[in-house]
Amino acid sequence: MTLLDGKKTAAAIKEEIALSVTELKKSGKKTPHLAAVLVGTNGASMTYVGAKVKACDLVGFESTLIELPDTTSEAALLDVIENLNTDPSIDGFIVQLPLPKHIDEDKVLMAVHPDKDVDGFHPTNVGKMALELPTFLPATPYGILELLERYQVETSGKNVVVIGRSHIVGRPMSILLSQKRAAGNATVTLTHSRTKNLKEITLKADIVVAALGIAEFLTGDMVKEGVTIIDVGITRVEDASKKKGFRLAGDVHFESTSKKAAFITPVPGGVGPMTIAMLLKNTLLACDRNS
Ligand code: NAD
Repeated sequence: MTLLDGKKTAAAIKEEIALSVTELKKSGKKTPHLAAVLVGTNGASMTYVGAKVKACDLVGFESTLIELPDTTSEAALLDVIENLNTDPSIDGFIVQLPLPKHIDEDKVLMAVHPDKDVDGFHPTNVGKMALELPTFLPATPYGILELLERYQVETSGKNVVVIGRSHIVGRPMSILLSQKRAAGNATVTLTHSRTKNLKEITLKADIVVAALGIAEFLTGDMVKEGVTIIDVGITRVEDASKKKGFRLAGDVHFESTSKKAAFITPVPGGVGPMTIAMLLKNTLLACDRNS
């Protein structure tokens, strides 16, 4: 069994990005600048945004964190987004999800200018992605493609089962893996909460991408020998033995599935770090397009 080490791979990608930033600075070009908007004090969101800002520092990007209170109105948030859209110093920005319930998430994501949408969530960019046109790929599926490619996991002609059809992970993942690309050309089955007999389907999979948000859902009896398993899930599970009172669990039961797997991602240290690395890669691309 080979561990698909997202932490190590993300570190290598960040080094590559840092080298590009050094080159940009040497030639007097603009330093990439990522902004992140965080509304409220959701613990997990604060951790994710903090990690993204830290990653910017590491590769030599400029970063701006805009923290807004839970009570921020939708109109006020849209104003902040408009300012970022028109600020020439900002190459790309993200609005950390989830947003408080009184704010319409779709409206907010639609307001981000597609050229600065480094999360790749705007309909224009989703459309381009589906049509195989150059664009910002959503960071989590992009990171998974990169991990599969760098570990030379064969995807061409393989049966891939994606569990979960969210707009940010499952659905784009299923589209990308079915396309003509390095980590692609797979025969993809997209499964979800209404799927019947899921185990029968996953047992036929050469590769399973689990992105449903239910801790340790995929167990050893649901996969075949030699399978590749990508665990996207991050769930906080109560654990009194931990200082913080919780541990992070993936959507995969690692102990039972890893006995059968040829390749598997750990949680933490798998898909999570890759997501951040690909966000940086998208920001570098945005800066390149701007200059
Ligand atoms: P979501 O809640 O938006 O979607 C979950 C999907 O799972 C839905 O499409 C639903 O139909 C499907 N589902 C639910 N129960 C199911 C079942 N019993 N069988 C089959 N399908 C089922 O989730 P999301 O935003 O895609 O996130 C999924 C998980 O990935 C979460 O744990 C989230 O925290 C994590 N995540 C991690 C990263 C990362 O960088 N590692 C990025 C995004 C999301």
